[in-house]
Amino acid sequence: MTASMPEAGQVLFVGAGPGDPELITVKGLKALQQAEVVVYAGSLVNPALLDECPSGCEIHDSAPLNLDQVLQILIAGCRAGKKVVRLHTGDPCLYGAIQEQMEALDAAGIDYAVIPGVTATFAAAASLKQELTLPGISQTLTLTRLAGRTPVPEKEQLRRIAANGGTLCLYLSVGMMETLVAELLAGGVFTGKTPVAVVYRASWPDEQMVEGTLANIAERVGLAGITRQALILVGEVLSARSNGVSEKSKLYDPDFSHGYRK
Ligand code: SAH
Repeated sequence: MTASMPEAGQVLFVGAGPGDPELITVKGLKALQQAEVVVYAGSLVNPALLDECPSGCEIHDSAPLNLDQVLQILIAGCRAGKKVVRLHTGDPCLYGAIQEQMEALDAAGIDYAVIPGVTATFAAAASLKQELTLPGISQTLTLTRLAGRTPVPEKEQLRRIAANGGTLCLYLSVGMMETLVAELLAGGVFTGKTPVAVVYRASWPDEQMVEGTLANIAERVGLAGITRQALILVGEVLSARSNGVSEKSKLYDPDFSHGYRK
């Protein structure tokens, strides 16, 4: 465990979690409570978390800033010997654009560390009260997205990923539901009957859940008016919620012994 974080002159990349301010880690919260400079991603980080910063803490929203402007703030803070926090939504390592920031800090000779966060997938699963891995149905979770302005490598086109089946968690894609459904069907494993759940702003007070199948989800999401800030879960695990016939796990099977139970 890292002692007394953040250190002066260091940047901590902190996962803010999905929205509910109580879903930040204890370590992330302590970092905010000691921060002297905070740069937060205003589009999805709950501003209530900023109430945790000490008075006098310098707070910047990165939404209107470009990379160089963000870096300038981080680097100037560190060079002034301050404790700097870069607060990202969910987990910083997933669609967080932190690699480019870390590379620039390396080049500037500035130390940094990353504190993980609860990603949107797990907030969505919690809201749905749905396990994403069920014995005999799916033991694989794929976190991916459709190509938007940010391209996706050819080998990872959604139809190719969908050909593996399993449970899919789709970020940054709810604004393209028709394309998404067409790509998932083109994989040849999912069908019009495959269950889908869309969770808008999981863990926020205005959270919304829309459920259906690949045949009707695009229409339902359209009717709900959801065009952004939503996570899409796809796969047979979701049908266990309606029919309640999931196979029992081995972990708690009385006839199954393991390291903690003979
Ligand atoms: N680092 C973040 C993802 C950032 S990309 C994480 O780990 O969650 C932004 C996308 O994440 C959004 O377009 C949406 O697909 C998803 N997202 C982030 N927060 C969400 C939330 N509270 N509910 C549903 N989806 C969310």
